Amino acid sequence: MDFENWWLLAFPSFFLLGWLAAKIDVKQLINESKNIPSTYIEGLNFLLNEERDKAIDVLVKLSVNEPDSVELQFAVGSLFRSNGEIQRALAVHQGLLDRPDLTNAQRNRAVLAVGEDFFKSGMYDRAEDFLKRVGTGKYKAVALRLLIDLYVNQNEWHRAVDVANQLQLASGQSYASEVAHFMVEISSQHHCDGDDAKAIDWLRKSLNVDPQAPRPRIALGQVLKSQGRYLEAIHELTQLELESSSFIGLVSDALIECHDKLGTKNQCLDKFKKLIDLSSSHDLLVKTFEMSMELEGQVTACDLARKFLKTTTDVGWAIPILESIKNDIAEASTADVDLLIEMAKQYRQEEAYICDSCGFLAHAHYWRCPACRQWDTYTLTSSAKGVPA
Ligand SMILES: [Zn+2]
Repeated sequence: MDFENWWLLAFPSFFLLGWLAAKIDVKQLINESKNIPSTYIEGLNFLLNEERDKAIDVLVKLSVNEPDSVELQFAVGSLFRSNGEIQRALAVHQGLLDRPDLTNAQRNRAVLAVGEDFFKSGMYDRAEDFLKRVGTGKYKAVALRLLIDLYVNQNEWHRAVDVANQLQLASGQSYASEVAHFMVEISSQHHCDGDDAKAIDWLRKSLNVDPQAPRPRIALGQVLKSQGRYLEAIHELTQLELESSSFIGLVSDALIECHDKLGTKNQCLDKFKKLIDLSSSHDLLVKTFEMSMELEGQVTACDLARKFLKTTTDVGWAIPILESIKNDIAEASTADVDLLIEMAKQYRQEEAYICDSCGFLAHAHYWRCPACRQWDTYTLTSSAKGVPA
């Protein structure tokens, strides 16, 4: 038989072998599924139907019958915790810690679980103690993440920075934007204590960590302004137009004040007019209009308002303008224009910021959502405005 004919016989043989292998796997699978107690399936069903109380009852009964099953104990503990029954979760997890037969990984997992239980119950000292004890391995990064949250909750910003740096090393991921926020918090504490030199030092460190971050730049401008260093403040705040122009609206008042002190308000107006062409925010439009009214007079300011109406995509801004100026802006009286400004301000107060993460509505800009505690979730849009909280 030549080579080609051998292969003609070999192909059906391979097919047969594959079919047999598949038969064996299926048979094994059926055997294994028969070995799974029906109570497991019952518990799983309750979980899938989000009936946690019933699932807990089933798993607790199972764990009594199978006290050696470590995984089952972890499952019961997790369910207690997610059900808000922290004391029962703690009892299960601490029971696991007392067992001498755990592997290193299981022991780390149990230490982490106890730390998390204490964290959830608000017993931060005990939580910190356990979370610090989690050894290297796959649970280390989770423990460090929880430790950061713990320190943030307690405003212990120096420790938060240290642990975030450890987490960066352990996970290989960058936490630069969070570290930058923590450093701004440290700076803010020094500023409150009257130590502006240290406050500025920490803001510069923050910018070194995350050069694109708007918050340290804004805070630096505010501290410099408070020291009367208006030119330097203007320099820092106008950096935002290069790095994160949408935040300029948040510092428009500070910029106007600095220019006012230096007698260069006209420069500020020119700058704002250029910025509006690049990225207009509601606040910037209002401020520019008000400055134009003050420095250039009503006719020029009304021309500017007409331009806004033609160019802005911010319908919210357009509606009060349109309502107040009605048909011909050139003939609008001072009272009409005052009304226009008032309506724009009113609109500003009614508008809310929405958290990208949880949808929480706020009337001021927050760097950290008060509801879900996530950083940088209030993304500024063209209608963004107000002073950061
Ligand atoms: Zn949120």
